[in-house]
Amino acid sequence: MQKGKVSVNTENIFPIIKKFLYTDNEIFLRELISNATDATNKLKVLSQRGETSGELGDLTIKVSIDEAKKTLTISDSGLGMTAEEIDKYINQIAFSGAEEFVEKFKDTKEDANIIGHFGLGFYSSYMVADKVEINSLSHTEGAEPAKWVCEGSTDFKITKGKRKTRGTDIILHVNEENSEFLQKWKIQELLNKYCKFLPIPIQFDDKVINEIAPLWKKNPSDLKEEDYTEFYSTLYPMSEPPLFWIHLNVDYPFNLTGVLYFPKIKKEIDPSRNKIQLYSNQVYVTDNVEDIVPEYLMLLHGVIDSPDIPLNVSRSSLQADGAVKKITSHISKKVADKLAELHKADFEDYKAKWHNMSIFVKYGMLSDDKFYDRAKGICLLQNTDKVYSSIEEYIAKIEPNQTDKNGNKIGLYTNDADKQHSFVEAAKAKGYDVLLLDEVIDNHFISNLEQKNEKFQLKRVDADTAGKLIDKDDKTESVLSDDEVANLKTAFETAVDKDKYTITTEVMSPDEAFVTITRSEWERRMSEMGGMGGMQMFGQMPEKYSVAINTNHNLATKVLQADADEQKTLMSKAIDLAKLSQNLLTGKELSDFVKKQMASL
Ligand code: ADP
Ligand code: MG
Repeated sequence: MQKGKVSVNTENIFPIIKKFLYTDNEIFLRELISNATDATNKLKVLSQRGETSGELGDLTIKVSIDEAKKTLTISDSGLGMTAEEIDKYINQIAFSGAEEFVEKFKDTKEDANIIGHFGLGFYSSYMVADKVEINSLSHTEGAEPAKWVCEGSTDFKITKGKRKTRGTDIILHVNEENSEFLQKWKIQELLNKYCKFLPIPIQFDDKVINEIAPLWKKNPSDLKEEDYTEFYSTLYPMSEPPLFWIHLNVDYPFNLTGVLYFPKIKKEIDPSRNKIQLYSNQVYVTDNVEDIVPEYLMLLHGVIDSPDIPLNVSRSSLQADGAVKKITSHISKKVADKLAELHKADFEDYKAKWHNMSIFVKYGMLSDDKFYDRAKGICLLQNTDKVYSSIEEYIAKIEPNQTDKNGNKIGLYTNDADKQHSFVEAAKAKGYDVLLLDEVIDNHFISNLEQKNEKFQLKRVDADTAGKLIDKDDKTESVLSDDEVANLKTAFETAVDKDKYTITTEVMSPDEAFVTITRSEWERRMSEMGGMGGMQMFGQMPEKYSVAINTNHNLATKVLQADADEQKTLMSKAIDLAKLSQNLLTGKELSDFVKKQMASL
């Protein structure tokens, strides 16, 4: 019998494990089952190399509960450990057995895949157990069974064991506070969460609970469309089918497999559902992939599996990790490639899908310059006549008729074709094209387009009168004299609340509106930013509008010629109508207006 102390620098590592090391104590089961899986995989490798004798036999890992003894046991038929190996790999915590294994066999590809990546895995069992036993029989010829017991102090005991077959039992004497881990449903739930896709069969309650060859590990050319949609519904039961998917399969310079699905993204994004699941060698790690994938990619669903994502470092250092950076950039490239492929293969189908993925694409373009460059050719702009073009095509299309006197190409858009109907019509009457940019993200996307495209600006159709939206310096002949124009302006100034409305006069075509109320693009953007919490100070600014009087309209002359009372009525009606078409006539003003109109019937 050998007695000794677990060699760690700290006085006693167990209280630390219990309290601080892992916040989720349930992961102990994942750790122990990963160890059993590793031990089994290592055995398979040794067997392939002819470095172990005897039949492999049934390699199923068995999980069982003994309610009377209050134990939870994980048994594998893996390579096992001799007493010396237990001493080395278990007692000398700082020494990673996996590391040595890799050192020994680092020249082959499969070997790298079988290392556990979870650091102090074995000792996580002390988060739920006060006493842990190991019973092991090594695969090596003539090996003696060994038994290790440690009751959660630095003292351990290694004795001759009784195990008759190759492999290892880990027996946890589960403590009172954690007795839930002695309940079948609980273990079932955890196995389902962490072990559903492990590569070695796991048996619990007489049933194998896992799928040893999950879809993402298969060869894409062997898979049919149904296989992908079926897997999607296993991952997310009751969800709408995905739009399309990408099968990831890289082994150099990093290892990454997985399947990412494009869900149908509605206007309302619900980030709480159907998250991407992260695996490491088919072991479930987390569905909190923040910091591992960029935010816009989190809108995707599916699985990524990479042993190269370091799991035992803090989240903030993850972002700086080289492998993680390469992985995200790879995913982002694959996604852009897939979009380009769909765009090229069937444009009609792509257009049909566009509204379910536009938020995703725009979000990606906003948050990642590289993605912007990759996606700009396949990002569609739609106009109010339902014509789609790429960004470049669009700018080229409007250039001849929508360039202002300073050489700026002015794109016009509406975010609500119904509410801004009269403005859309007025712009179209000038031969202008009007885009429909009505998604929540479009506010940001608009600024992004302006930044990325030289001498390109976007203006909402109601930012100005149609004639001034694009300042072209072409003058219309004025019907009124300068004095008359000045009089008209003074008259209208008495008819509005001057803090909110500024009167301007404009020489327009007689068939354009007499009075038009607009709000400048700049003013509106500033106030929207305030509303979104970005720039509080602007949010407090009073709303300001311009009231443009068309001095060439025949009503202009009529107002000038009317007597005082009639003039007042005319102006007030014209302003009310202009407000009405800008949705500015509300509350008491609206009821008064309706009452007056009724009375005049
Ligand atoms: P890691 O898995 O990261 O190496 P662990 O603390 O989980 O760290 O395990 C320590 C070592 O103990 C393993 O590397 C392995 O050598 C050994 N070990 C643990 N469980 C088993 C097992 N079921 N069969 C064989 N060896 C095991
Ligand atoms: Mg481990």
